[in-house]
Amino acid sequence: MEKPAFLDRDRPDVPDLVVPGGVTPFYLAGRPVRGRLVRLGVLADTLLTRHDHPAPVTRLAGKALALVAALASALKFQGSFSLQMKGDGPVSMLVADCTNTGALRFYARTDDEALAALLEETPKPTDRELLGNGYMALTVDQGPEMDRHQGIVEIAGDDLSAMAMHYFASSEQHACWIMLACQMTDAGWRAGGLVLERIAGEGGSHVVEDEAAEASWETATILAGTLSTKELLDDSLPTLQLLHRLFHEEDLHVSQPRALAFGCRCSRARLANVLETFPQDDLDHMCQDDGNIVMTCEFCNVDFRFARKNIATQAQ
Ligand SMILES: [Zn+2]
Repeated sequence: MEKPAFLDRDRPDVPDLVVPGGVTPFYLAGRPVRGRLVRLGVLADTLLTRHDHPAPVTRLAGKALALVAALASALKFQGSFSLQMKGDGPVSMLVADCTNTGALRFYARTDDEALAALLEETPKPTDRELLGNGYMALTVDQGPEMDRHQGIVEIAGDDLSAMAMHYFASSEQHACWIMLACQMTDAGWRAGGLVLERIAGEGGSHVVEDEAAEASWETATILAGTLSTKELLDDSLPTLQLLHRLFHEEDLHVSQPRALAFGCRCSRARLANVLETFPQDDLDHMCQDDGNIVMTCEFCNVDFRFARKNIATQAQ
């Protein structure tokens, strides 16, 4: 017997995984620099391997997860930070989001024929070749009480780090330096990132930035640029040690690290509500020979089965 949706609000059987210290915020005292070091650890492998994408798409998705994890850690209220990329390339859509509590999820929509053709020609395509020309949007959603803030720019640059820097350079007030990485390692997929933000001086004034501030921002980005992908994705290298190695001469102050977690918010009840808005014809069309309709959450890739006969539909 199919349980009625209202009796079954439980989360599906997806990993309940929390990575403590996934995001480490820090600042350089007396300098206009604050940053976040993100390391998804085993969470990267868990999130990425729920989808059966070719490696280049998985790498892009892992970098997107690291980016939203870094940006969401700046949220001051309950809410989420999401990245959406839409282009004319084989990866026609990429969505990643992270809540203020560090719950992460993503999905990528691919044109499998176009993707196979690209990979045959270019086994290691750039993010740009995967996404093509299109748009990148970042959205902050802090609930109905707060304005939803969204910025949209054209996709520019070869990799997601460059695209994100272009976004901040063209749509926000402050400069950012961003490194994102995702690779298959001996321990499985790993993803991470380092984001530096140039913050305004005392009083929040954007008017005059003196030469010393400019020089310390330059120094911080040069030091950040010495971080290798191998170091960033190496579980055996502690985060504090890594930050210290980079910024020990710049009066590094590390703030309270934050956890990241597997964050799909799908539920059987929510999908049942979606199904109930479909016309009868569509439901009949979706129904399989065994009398069930299968809905797959595009984020966590969990299948939900609903008996066709139990789905009440709106009056036609
Ligand atoms: Zn889900």
